[in-house]
Amino acid sequence: MASIVAELWRNADETPERMAVGSGTRTLTYGELRERIAGSAARCAELGVQIGDRVLFIAPSVPEFVVTYYGLQTAGATIITMNVMSTVPEIEYVVGDSGTSLIVAWHECATNARSVAESAGLPFVEIGPFDDEEGGPAPVTSFVDRADDDVAVILYTSGTTGRPKGAALTVGNITACPVAFRQVLDLGSAERWATALPLFHVFGQAIVMNGALSTGGSLSLLSPFTPAAFMDLLRDERITIACGVPTMWNAMLQVTGDYPPSDFADLRLACSGGASLPAEVIRAFQERFGCAIMEGYGLTETSGAATFRGADGAVGSVGPALPGFTIEVRDPDGEVVAPEVIGEIFIKAPTVMKEYWNRPDATAADLTDGWLRTGDLGTMDADGALRIVDRAKDLIIRGGYNVYPREVEEVLYEHPDIVEVAVVGVADDHYGEEIAAVITPRAGAQLDADGLREWAGERLSAYKIPRIVQTVDALPKGATGKILKRAIDRDALRRIE
Ligand code: ATP
Repeated sequence: MASIVAELWRNADETPERMAVGSGTRTLTYGELRERIAGSAARCAELGVQIGDRVLFIAPSVPEFVVTYYGLQTAGATIITMNVMSTVPEIEYVVGDSGTSLIVAWHECATNARSVAESAGLPFVEIGPFDDEEGGPAPVTSFVDRADDDVAVILYTSGTTGRPKGAALTVGNITACPVAFRQVLDLGSAERWATALPLFHVFGQAIVMNGALSTGGSLSLLSPFTPAAFMDLLRDERITIACGVPTMWNAMLQVTGDYPPSDFADLRLACSGGASLPAEVIRAFQERFGCAIMEGYGLTETSGAATFRGADGAVGSVGPALPGFTIEVRDPDGEVVAPEVIGEIFIKAPTVMKEYWNRPDATAADLTDGWLRTGDLGTMDADGALRIVDRAKDLIIRGGYNVYPREVEEVLYEHPDIVEVAVVGVADDHYGEEIAAVITPRAGAQLDADGLREWAGERLSAYKIPRIVQTVDALPKGATGKILKRAIDRDALRRIE
């Protein structure tokens, strides 16, 4: 298998004039992109970057991210990408844990990274818009050829307990991701991709950016995400593949402007992932945009990829394992459970990380004989399609009964006055845990908690009805736009009667 960088270089040879990446009017063809990547790799070499050196790279989703990322790959570095909002202590931790030897940051979010570099005595490079660049060393003429087992990127997952862990993804891991998607989707150079996902996270980086550029497609970036701007992008650039998280599709459905479905006639793949996609959103999206949302499931630890549900897959499932991947749903004793029985999801795949960097204990806990323990609960349909029930850690146990928040959320999403909802467990003296629903209501709607409970009671067993109801202007979201349940203040919910 040719690596992502090799594919990219080949595309530049074959179709130098084709647009590779752009953001608004700032675009680069494959030829221009390769030239800049080769320049960036030359600067790395000048700074003494050797194969496998860890380089921390912080930038938003702009074309320069793409240039520097592949410049570092071309030079053979192991890249660590972090959120542009990272604080000094967060950066310090990752620099220390990974043994970073160089820090590179985009000029608009360089302050914290520079200060860490200064205190750690590390070289620091600030990058700016490519149109302002001058000079530099002579571009390299080829990429460093690395072994499949070399670590290409380390992506830190926040984790709910303890320190973040760095998922070490090899050249082979990240190569296998687009290769798998190419077997289930027809992905060629005619595709026009769009995303507003951050490229520092696995979804935007390993699936969208690597997927688009290794297959010769063109990639339009939007940063930051606003639903109307994303819809304008889909319409104006006649996008064929749009990738995002469920909150983005939902936000697009709330846009009231005049966008007839014919505006999106070229859109053939709307790919969702990262969090559960409410059935109601799938239905409404199809109606408004005339395009089915397909869905994949994966983790940072699997280079983003594990399953994919195409347009004809059952709504509510995340589809079967990708070709060459194996998924098992196991009981607490490690036995594979029967179809439709809930258990923990395990994945064995060419995209499964090599290890948690520098963390043999965590690696041993989650990785056995190539099988990754996901911490997610799911069921397998008789035909091999996986359904995600919930994250094991989000399960609510109320009075001895298991309540899966996602099931309650699915029902609440059908309520006409609810735009977004997160259901969480809150400590309770009597029941152990009580069910709380934190809701963003539709503009102008007055949600009455008693009325809502009554409504839920018509659709859910009594023990699943949220007793605590809170309305908020917005739910906390993580870097990708996923709802961040751990940022919900449970103590404050506890005080609501
Ligand atoms: P972090 O570890 O950085 O806090 P995270 O736990 O969301 O964030 P990611 O690797 O970004 O980590 O996301 C992986 C998780 O996202 C999976 O374990 C699963 O819980 C959830 N997920 C991903 N895709 C889907 C999907 N299609 N449906 C439901 N859940 C999903």
